[in-house]
Amino acid sequence: MDVDGTEGIVYNQKQSVYTKYKRGRNRGKMDKLTLQAMAKINLGLDVVRRREDGYHEVKMVMQTVKLHDRLTFEKRKEDMLRMESSMKELPSDGSNLILRAASLLKEEFGIREGLFVRLEKQIPVAAGMAGGSTDAAATLVAVNRMFGLGLSEDQLRERAVKIGADVPYCIGGGTALSEGIGEILTPLPAAPACFVIVARPPVHVSTKWVYQNLRLEEVKEHPDIDGMVESIREGELSGVIKRLSNVLETVTVPSYPVIAQIKDFLMKNGAAGALMSGSGPTVFALFEDRERAERALEELQQTGMAQQACLTAFSDETCVEEALLQ
Ligand code: ATP
Repeated sequence: MDVDGTEGIVYNQKQSVYTKYKRGRNRGKMDKLTLQAMAKINLGLDVVRRREDGYHEVKMVMQTVKLHDRLTFEKRKEDMLRMESSMKELPSDGSNLILRAASLLKEEFGIREGLFVRLEKQIPVAAGMAGGSTDAAATLVAVNRMFGLGLSEDQLRERAVKIGADVPYCIGGGTALSEGIGEILTPLPAAPACFVIVARPPVHVSTKWVYQNLRLEEVKEHPDIDGMVESIREGELSGVIKRLSNVLETVTVPSYPVIAQIKDFLMKNGAAGALMSGSGPTVFALFEDRERAERALEELQQTGMAQQACLTAFSDETCVEEALLQ
């Protein structure tokens, strides 16, 4: 999303929405704003090495999908920062990434007005879809716009990395190569369009546990991330599908057979490719044909293998202001 500029209305053809914008330092101040904060999947995920400080260096192809949380931001006159969430299990205190992101900018810029945020959660939580990171990124974008801070996308990214490694990517989203601990980003052309089923199995997988149990020295075949980047640049969906691979499956699949079961089920029901996203346990499957994808989703829902499942599509941005024109 553009975060600087003047004022007007843009039509986003891919999203089929009109977006009204007002931007720029002290020009674009507004009292209320609703943003859709979209999830990501990893079309490819490789771990290159474990650093001495314990962090893992990764090489990932990130892709935004339209599945989103809805965040409504409202200014308050009194100096406060509060949120409420549609998901009661999620903390609504200072540990929520939304409030961490808001207070980061509030403190840096000495903002004395208050902010109230309402979160309608749709992205599976702790499931490898960067739900918390995209909420944090949307909050940075919202505070920047509502309080007229005038920060550029790059300046927002510099702050985003303080909240989490995936947050800088979530500022712009789309298709990107992510390296380092996730903070070195190379934008890529939009990946070829297709239909995407996202399915969350009814198991909880801790990201920390996955990385602790990754035996890099035993991994025989690493994902071909360079090949996938090439396929994306050439607009070849078949090349992308052929290279779908996630090194973290070597940890999760043996321990959680339901991940492989969902993948197999979707492949048998017409998917061109299927993979676990991030550290899991969410599985996604790519379809070239919408009807096939719709049928596969219905079939999957009847099996009870997935706790949450939906049909979505790639998006070329992460954070979209909700349609203002009906
Ligand atoms: P990633 O793909 O970046 O590893 P994830 O999808 O595995 O992320 P999240 O959904 O971002 O995981 O949640 C990770 C943790 O962050 C959860 O334990 C949750 O309690 C906490 N959290 C804090 N704020 C949020 C938020 N706004 N939305 C979701 N989780 C949040």
